[in-house]
Amino acid sequence: MPDHEPADDCVFCKIVRGDFGTEFVAESEHAVAFRDLHPQAPTHVLVVPRKHIAALRDLGDDDTVMAADLLRLAARVAAQEGITDGGYRVLTNDGPDAGQTVFHLHFHVLGGRPLHLPLG
Ligand code: AMP
Ligand code: ZN
Repeated sequence: MPDHEPADDCVFCKIVRGDFGTEFVAESEHAVAFRDLHPQAPTHVLVVPRKHIAALRDLGDDDTVMAADLLRLAARVAAQEGITDGGYRVLTNDGPDAGQTVFHLHFHVLGGRPLHLPLG
């Protein structure tokens, strides 16, 4: 299947479509943000493009505006959550070694406590 087609079996495509009634903590033209089901920190929000893209490696030449919009939404989420001053982390897992489990691109926004590397 092409990496940019909405996938019927993609849980994040379903969330973006509103199939589960998931509350969005923030939205932008190209992305939505919602709380992770299994939070690893007091703030753990996922920033997800509306368009199905499997992973960071699949961003194309046409996705530059969308990619910037995603990162700006991540920063807006952090501000909204009140974690900008304390500091926060934005990360994406690309592929099996990184532990990617949902193959629809997403950035984790983590904060609200001191974070230490490595993550796992
Ligand atoms: P990754 O390991 O980077 O692919 O992260 C996938 C993340 O999605 C994990 O932190 C999961 O807890 C989270 N997740 C999976 N399904 C849902 C869901 N339905 N709603 C919110 N978060 C989810
Ligand atoms: Zn998807």
